[in-house]
Amino acid sequence: MEVESGAFVEKARAALDDATLQHALKHIKHGFVEARANAAARLPDFEAMRDRARDVKAHTIAHLADYLEQFEANVTARGGKVHWARDAREARAIIHGICRAAGARTVTKSKSMVTEEIELNPYLEEHSIEPIETDLGEYIIQLRGEKPSHIIAPVIHLSKDQVADTFHEHHGRHGFHTRLTERSGMVREARSILRQRFVKADVGITGANFLVAETGSAVVVTNEGNADLTASLPDTHIVVTGIEKLVPTLDDCHLMLRLLPRSATGQDITAYVSFFTGPKRTDDLSGPSSFHVVLLDNGRSDMMGTEFEEMLRCIRCGACLNHCPVYSNIGGHAYGSVYPGPMGAVLTPSLAGIDKAGHLPNASSFCGRCEAVCPVRIPLPKLMRHWREREFERHLSPSGTRWGLRAWSMIAASPRLYRSMQWTASRFLRLIASNGWIRRLPLAGAGWTGERDMHAPAGNSFQHQWRKRGGRR
Ligand code: SF4
Repeated sequence: MEVESGAFVEKARAALDDATLQHALKHIKHGFVEARANAAARLPDFEAMRDRARDVKAHTIAHLADYLEQFEANVTARGGKVHWARDAREARAIIHGICRAAGARTVTKSKSMVTEEIELNPYLEEHSIEPIETDLGEYIIQLRGEKPSHIIAPVIHLSKDQVADTFHEHHGRHGFHTRLTERSGMVREARSILRQRFVKADVGITGANFLVAETGSAVVVTNEGNADLTASLPDTHIVVTGIEKLVPTLDDCHLMLRLLPRSATGQDITAYVSFFTGPKRTDDLSGPSSFHVVLLDNGRSDMMGTEFEEMLRCIRCGACLNHCPVYSNIGGHAYGSVYPGPMGAVLTPSLAGIDKAGHLPNASSFCGRCEAVCPVRIPLPKLMRHWREREFERHLSPSGTRWGLRAWSMIAASPRLYRSMQWTASRFLRLIASNGWIRRLPLAGAGWTGERDMHAPAGNSFQHQWRKRGGRR
């Protein structure tokens, strides 16, 4: 998995200075945050459903081997084939093998973060197979040669004008020479191009939002219907997904399907919910004659039994991104990972290693909004803190941070030292304050006041006042 988080700080600064991006990111607040709050308010047992979903996913992960076997047996019984991929290299090779056997020159794809994780598109292109993204957002970023910036809204970083420019630049070769600026016209144009590609594709690749162990089904939700065309029109359908997407039963799946769209976009249900179970039956009029499921591990089983196991409950709804004050100000590209925001801050180091993703668990104010909205109640701040501890233990954090933390632990362990340092610091801060505000802190504090002013301490500390009262209320 490609991770470029080393330049996080520089990219985050550039994102804050990018007026177009800042304008585009405003949609997160109005499009997602309010919509989720309204959807949750409309459903009286929303909080109880979150508890149940947490329990279902925790139970599934605790018995994952059994459910994976059950899933494979049911896929096989319905004429499909399950392939096991230990890592991205194996997954790519399996998919390439299936495409080669199908004589594929072009494959259509519906949105799949796992295929981004394994960097499938460049691999297919290297092997003379053309991947065609059919989700509108993914299609746009494929034309632009970019990566998605959000796990459910890949082009949240783009303005309508930028999309209009992209279509104008690339659609001429399909006979569309007018630069359209009206949303419905642009969508119509893209749709007419994609329809031709759907019909001609040799293989269709989808992800899966859920896998149902008791039926061997792969479940995909979309608002565009592109996954259905991707899965049904070509003669071969490949589902590529992570092993953690399993749920035991259809009832469990229905619970997740009630939570996922509400948490993601505020919809009660997505426009399309598709259950793909095996290849075409003899009495089916259409559908693929071969059905494959590629189950990717790629570091997921290493998370089991560790403090990061809870992250395997994630259903990729994106709510933690939408509610994160860091993500909603800098967007997804600054993170340098296919999984950005709070969920990425935990998942990326789990899959790629903390040495490659060290900045990410630190990109949090620990305000707790991500945990407060997560439909499966993943304690994201706690897990980010675990990664910070690992960083510290492995001497990966900057020396200034390490010395600062050492000094802090020494001070915090001695009440007498803590009191005297607090007294000194508060006197000093009041001395450099003007009209109750501190404009610039010296030394390591300069970073804090570089972006904002700080209140001067208001008065004596709680402990001082407590002592003065003789320990009485
Ligand atoms: S961590 Fe929770 S809120 Fe974030 S994407 Fe996963 S399920 Fe959604």
